[in-house]
Amino acid sequence: MSRAHNFNAGPAVLPLEVLEIAQKELTDFNGTGMSIMEHSHRGKAYDAVHAEAVANMGKLLGVDDNYQVLFLQGGASLQFAQIPMNLLLPGQTADYVNSGAWASKAIKEAKKIGAVNVVADTSKDIPTNMPDYASLNYTKGAAYVHVTSNETIAGTQIQQFPKTEAPLVCDMSSDILCRPFDLKQFGLIYAGAQKNLGPSGVTLVVIRKDLIERAPATLPTMLQYRTQAKENSLYNTPSTFGIYILMLVSRWLLAKGGAAGIEKINRAKADKLYAAIDNSGGYYRGGANKACRSIMNVTWRLPTEALEEKFIKEATAQKMIGLKGHRDVGGCRASIYNACPVESVDALVAFMKDFQAKNG
Ligand SMILES: *Cc1c(COP(=O)(O)O)cnc(C)c1O
Repeated sequence: MSRAHNFNAGPAVLPLEVLEIAQKELTDFNGTGMSIMEHSHRGKAYDAVHAEAVANMGKLLGVDDNYQVLFLQGGASLQFAQIPMNLLLPGQTADYVNSGAWASKAIKEAKKIGAVNVVADTSKDIPTNMPDYASLNYTKGAAYVHVTSNETIAGTQIQQFPKTEAPLVCDMSSDILCRPFDLKQFGLIYAGAQKNLGPSGVTLVVIRKDLIERAPATLPTMLQYRTQAKENSLYNTPSTFGIYILMLVSRWLLAKGGAAGIEKINRAKADKLYAAIDNSGGYYRGGANKACRSIMNVTWRLPTEALEEKFIKEATAQKMIGLKGHRDVGGCRASIYNACPVESVDALVAFMKDFQAKNG
């Protein structure tokens, strides 16, 4: 078997061990004679999977009695709307930091629901950048403050979360559980699963319990957090197979020492790649301001667009997949999520050196 070096931004690489377990169990889950996909979401077999997924996520994220783990659908993109629908009441203002493409999308949706105050905008900065969150002027009495912990396209990442008076809400789609953080700082965090947690089709939301009840009762049932909170994310049929894979990923992550364990590996991977960029004598130029470089999405440019095209083509021929930068920014990007093996990063670094030697 030959696995690709998968640097896709999302959906993205999954741990081989997880795929192998899923393969083994695919047609007969735990001796039941059925795939987990064929089980009722209200039956015993799936119930155990669901409970373990909730419990493991709780362990990994430090969830206590004040918070609840939800598995929703509609992706992080639906959260862009569902968050203000539930938390931004008439007469209130929500603060948003526009740190890039994903934050911009969150802002666009929130503006459809209520009053938005953009407290900082680095979305057009080159090199890509993030503001100093600690020094921003947040609105007094804001409904919440929304930030994006990792801008997947720009390759930037919040280094230190701000302490805000209003509940801090964070889109962690592309860096959740890549490093430890203190959940108590947050009112709500959310992430589409397809980057760091599992397959697409599941959205993780962790919400502080007092915020569950803020939504107006006039909201459609499925859009109120309280609906899924009351039913442990089983009000309607959840993405059972997606949650099953997420559960396997959570087991894998716990075995790696959780967020603290994986962070060491992630930093080592990112350091190697940034060193390859920084030690290239300017041949490779990092896309992000060094002070806010992401350890999940590494972006860089080559001297010309023609060379970038050649680089990506030759890398692809060597089974290094997904290195093309987002169409909005160009250049190259390697997404090196939790499940991306060190060997893939080593292969890429070796390829970068080789390419420069031949095309420098
Ligand atoms: C991918 C991504 C999204 C969009 O996620 P969907 O699940 O496709 O809606 C939102 N925010 C960030 C930071 C992302 O990386």
